[in-house]
Amino acid sequence: MYQSFIGLEVHIHLLTGTKVFCNCASAFGDEPNTHVCPVCMGYPGVLPSLNIEAMRMGCTVARSLNCRIPDRTWFERKQYFYPDMPKNYQISQFASPLGQNGYMDLEGNGAPAGKRVRIKECHLEEDAGKMIHTGTVSLLDYNRAGVSLLEIVTEPDMETGEEAELFIRQLRRMVRYLGVCDGNMEEGSLRADANVSINFPGKGLGKKVEIKNLNSSRFVRLGLNYEITRQGVLLDAGREVVQETRLWNENRDQTEPMRTKENAQDYRYFPEPDLPVFAPDAAFLASVEASLVELPQARIKRFEEEYGLAADLADLICEEKAGADYFEDAVGEAVRQGLEKKDAAGRIGNRLISDIRHILSREGLSMAAVAGLRITPRRLASLVALSAGGKVSGKNAKQALEAVMTEDRDPEDIIRERGWDLLTDPELIAEAVRLVYESEGPAFEEARGTSNPKRRRTLTAYLVGKVLERTAGRADPGIAGEQIGRLIDAPRCS
Ligand code: ADP
Ligand code: ZN
Ligand code: MG
Repeated sequence: MYQSFIGLEVHIHLLTGTKVFCNCASAFGDEPNTHVCPVCMGYPGVLPSLNIEAMRMGCTVARSLNCRIPDRTWFERKQYFYPDMPKNYQISQFASPLGQNGYMDLEGNGAPAGKRVRIKECHLEEDAGKMIHTGTVSLLDYNRAGVSLLEIVTEPDMETGEEAELFIRQLRRMVRYLGVCDGNMEEGSLRADANVSINFPGKGLGKKVEIKNLNSSRFVRLGLNYEITRQGVLLDAGREVVQETRLWNENRDQTEPMRTKENAQDYRYFPEPDLPVFAPDAAFLASVEASLVELPQARIKRFEEEYGLAADLADLICEEKAGADYFEDAVGEAVRQGLEKKDAAGRIGNRLISDIRHILSREGLSMAAVAGLRITPRRLASLVALSAGGKVSGKNAKQALEAVMTEDRDPEDIIRERGWDLLTDPELIAEAVRLVYESEGPAFEEARGTSNPKRRRTLTAYLVGKVLERTAGRADPGIAGEQIGRLIDAPRCS
């Protein structure tokens, strides 16, 4: 067996309205080359200026990854020629990344206990443009050139494709919680390059292969596991792994060589002379602290303890920050309406991930849109309180949710007006039971005569169903069942 080492380089697009060194809008998908200016097009004589919002977002991620923010951080030029980069260098950070020496613990969902992945650094840089190859020509769209990009580099602390996939998922959820990146891997807002080597145990790192073109967390897992196997076969045969960059081919489920001699690259980094050194002051650091939020993994753990939720339910609720916020608001409301906290939490959690999620997806919305839903946390809390107090049947509670959606009114009003509240008055139920007794003579007769308890239960349920039919679903089934039982046992009058 070999030891394996995996390190990830994750790039995230920061959700700044403008690019990192000029005032062009960060907008893709628009008409090509409409968001460009002399600065991001690299005209001679122009001066970049730092987008402080990008720096704040970058530092917020860095702090959430337990990184140290240095007293002074600056930029370098990373020089290489490629048509998607009009300046022929990329402004990046080399010697003083904005975040240093952090870590993220892998948690939940099959993570090995206590697995910590060290974060080497986070640095801010600009993205390149986009090349579109069609037939014999290549087209260039520079709208993306200069867009704020944060690169997060891990130490080679992961060992399997599964761990790397978990890291990506956890990081993705984190940056979405922080509101600094939409995390869309398919559209390239979050991109991961995976580095992997294997070696004989105790021999340290092996020759590293970098895998690119991994545009989903699943491909990260598949690509890495493929590569670990491929390298193992080479070593088994006494051959060497070539240090190279490979591409994931999703049609063939394999990695393929892209370019070799990685070491030969020399970017000739040197300090960017047109940007001053950035020394975060107290006000800036305070704005970073103010942007920190309770992170998803911590929140899941708190939900388990504070609300008594099962781990998988807590995880589902915490998938999106908006969903978790909604949940806590609704539980707070329900408690104010007299429900016990854990009871309220269980009921609301289940409604949220079943009914509410269903309604959202039917409207083509994600959980992020729950904040604007007509079923507000207070309205859901009221409904849950009514059904916990036995005031409305499960079926009518569901109907009421739908009515809240179409009418935008409070569920308690809808339920009262429609008469959807549970009927518990024994006199009123007895009336319906009498009518059923008259129309369902044979069923009562059979229930009375049978010595098979199972048959009797079936018949009773059937008769309760008839009572519900006669009361538009409002009769309390427990009370109706008792009354029917008494009638079955009663000596016949005739
Ligand atoms: P480079 O200079 O080639 O970019 P870095 O030292 O910056 O290499 O590392 C890039 C990424 O590759 C990091 O995530 C790091 O953890 C990982 N890495 C470096 N060496 C190895 C190795 N031998 N095996 C696996 N991963 C590695
Ligand atoms: Zn510009
Ligand atoms: Mg590197």
